[in-house]
Amino acid sequence: MFLVAGAYWVVQRETDLAVLAALLVVIVRYAEPLASFINYTKIIHLVEASLLRIEALLMVPELPQLPEQHPQRYDISFELVDFSYQGSSQPNLIGFNLTIPARSMTALVGPSGGAGKTTVTRLLMRYADPQTGTVKIGGVDIRAIPPETLNSIVSVVFQDVYLFDDTILANIRMARPEASDLEVQQAAKAANCHAFITRFPQGYLTHVGDIGSRLSGGERQRISIARAILKNAPILVLDEPTAALDTESEVAVQAAIDTLIKDKTVIVIAHRLSTVASASNIVVVEDGRLVEQGIHNELIANPGRYSSMWQTQQRVKNWHVARTANQIAHVLSRILYLAGQPLESLVKAQNIITFSCACAGALNLVV
Ligand code: ADP
Repeated sequence: MFLVAGAYWVVQRETDLAVLAALLVVIVRYAEPLASFINYTKIIHLVEASLLRIEALLMVPELPQLPEQHPQRYDISFELVDFSYQGSSQPNLIGFNLTIPARSMTALVGPSGGAGKTTVTRLLMRYADPQTGTVKIGGVDIRAIPPETLNSIVSVVFQDVYLFDDTILANIRMARPEASDLEVQQAAKAANCHAFITRFPQGYLTHVGDIGSRLSGGERQRISIARAILKNAPILVLDEPTAALDTESEVAVQAAIDTLIKDKTVIVIAHRLSTVASASNIVVVEDGRLVEQGIHNELIANPGRYSSMWQTQQRVKNWHVARTANQIAHVLSRILYLAGQPLESLVKAQNIITFSCACAGALNLVV
């Protein structure tokens, strides 16, 4: 554009060639630094926005501490807890009472999206304090437990796992920075991670950033379980850790979880009730209230929220079984047809498969 205009001015004798050449040199000389400067201003805006967010975080007042006490046991109790998030128009937990014995497994279930299950676990980790009531660990009000002690006695495994842009070794070791390489490896073995980690040419020293997209959801989840195994905290919160996984990953992750939860006080938030049917206590939370609790067999024997949720999930499971049955029957009849079998045997085979799959569905309902 400038060149065309310059040529025009030269032809019109409004400027001479030497001035145009000098101008061109100046423009070329400054174009690159100018472009870099414009890029820097974009980065400065980004940094400014991040700083504002960090500042807002630093401005959050610290939660008040009671005189320091350290729990000697790891049972948990919520005593008449009322809690509302800041700016919330209605209470998010109301008169919440729950006793969790040490080394037991308590499942929090209920409608997904807003019942209050995650809020219960957040209060245990002291992300906030309840407006009334108390949360205790080993009989000690958690407001008296120093934050670093509380952090060391509670581990959390979330559904979404965040891995830092560092090596796999560092990502696992962050749970206990003083752990040796051998301890990290032992934790990874217990979490069923060792085999897939050693398949990478650099093994434990592989950078997560380089392989981020090559790690499946199940593998990332097992790394977070390895972290929790390494930390070895006596209280464990599992927030739907297998909810987003396919069946194969779920089996591997579940095996890792079984190792992790041994001898721990466990609170698990579960959507699929079949995964927590063996829990020592199942707690149904709805609209911020504890509406039912007990063991699986007791709860399904009585009409109530849990038994209706259980039946709904079983119906969905049976629908899947029936759909698979129809698909198998359809494929088999095609094979028999192509093999030149008479129509009679096609119908017979189809009926047998559909019938047996329906029986399997009914069996699921009973089990
Ligand atoms: P659940 O885990 O059972 O799905 P949550 O404990 O996450 O339920 O949410 C309970 C209620 O608290 C919901 O109404 C939700 O909108 C509200 N809530 C959750 N987190 C926050 C937050 N950080 N700020 C304000 N309200 C929140």
